[in-house]
Amino acid sequence: MICFDEALKIVLDSVQPTERIELPLLNALGLVAAEEVESAERIPPFDNSAMDGYAVRAQDTAGASKDRPAELKVILNLPAGKHTDRTVGPGEAIRIMTGAPIPAGADTVVQVELTERLSDGAVKILQEHEKNKNIRMAGEDIFIGQKVLTAGEEITPAKLGLLASIGRANLRVYRRPRVAILATGDELVNPGEPLAPGKIRNSNSYTMIAQTRICGAEPAYLGIARDTKEDVRDHIQDGMSADVILTSGGVSVGDYDYVKDAFQELGVEFRFTKVAIKPGMPTVFGLWRGKLVFGLPGNPVSSMVIFEEFVRPALLKMMGKCKLRRPLIEAVLEGDVKKNPERMHLVRGIVRREADGYRVSTTGPQGSGILLSMDHANGIMMLPKGIQLKKGDRVKVQLITLPEVD
Ligand code: AMP
Ligand code: MG
Repeated sequence: MICFDEALKIVLDSVQPTERIELPLLNALGLVAAEEVESAERIPPFDNSAMDGYAVRAQDTAGASKDRPAELKVILNLPAGKHTDRTVGPGEAIRIMTGAPIPAGADTVVQVELTERLSDGAVKILQEHEKNKNIRMAGEDIFIGQKVLTAGEEITPAKLGLLASIGRANLRVYRRPRVAILATGDELVNPGEPLAPGKIRNSNSYTMIAQTRICGAEPAYLGIARDTKEDVRDHIQDGMSADVILTSGGVSVGDYDYVKDAFQELGVEFRFTKVAIKPGMPTVFGLWRGKLVFGLPGNPVSSMVIFEEFVRPALLKMMGKCKLRRPLIEAVLEGDVKKNPERMHLVRGIVRREADGYRVSTTGPQGSGILLSMDHANGIMMLPKGIQLKKGDRVKVQLITLPEVD
């Protein structure tokens, strides 16, 4: 049986980025840039006022103070978005608003708080001003030709704003991978349907769709296949247009576990069919017509953990991302952990930050059907096979959500 690291390497080595497409800027949020962007515009595009005040000639304010103000004639009111051909001459001022272009002749802006308006169209300047005060110069933030985005960078809200500010309406990015999602099991009923004897609720479709979405990929739901090879196969064929096929359940050694048989019949090339981990040992991975095919175990926790550990990094790599793994920290165990020495254990944990470092405790019972253990977890302890672990030992923990700081 292969180990966790080998399995992850096999998965990631099979992944190619999706093709590059051009999208309207807003749709690129969270995706990865597939082009370098140099600014074709200056920011700001023209010299403009950083304050509401008066655009004047600095020399006209020489020696001005509260006691000996300089009095200037106000010749115009200039709001943002307007331009004037009037020139500020000696002894003149233009009332100017933040963002309005600096008029010809003016070389400084006196903020309104340092002035006193007179009723007869004049203004008193209460402080001497040097040149260029309160003026934002054209191109001082970004010059024409300046690189603002490198291929491979993720589009964050700030990057989106930056691209908008230099006039980009579209951007080339790696397309969101499409993920076809299939639950399998005769026992499954959906929320909202009656729960007949022997039936259980389908929750894996929900977690798999949610996990797919949160990665930035696009889920396509194939519903629930019954436990026959034919039904599983037919449902999978509906996912032909996807980049990734995800199934849950039916990969173990039960009499009705037909997923591997269905994969086989479709011609899936298996890369592995078991991994030495707990939970998630029966995980299946293969390739089919250029798609990745994951057969996740049916137990709700196994399916979530395996998505987190194998599917998520694969989707991120398909989206062109370089950082594929969650942050890994070291934490001190707060209790003993029992484990099977033959397998690596992925134990759901609650991580806390103390003054002397991180502490981690388990979320309680770790049965792979106990979805509450996943709900309560903010970390997954990566406990290597072989060794037993006791309270006080240091362990590696993957942070699946960062601990909040309040
Ligand atoms: P299996 O591997 O198909 O035998 O499934 C293992 C366990 O997971 C069984 O108890 C199933 O009932 C349960 N299970 C399988 N699929 C789902 C699902 N979609 N939602 C919730 N539980 C499931
Ligand atoms: Mg089943």
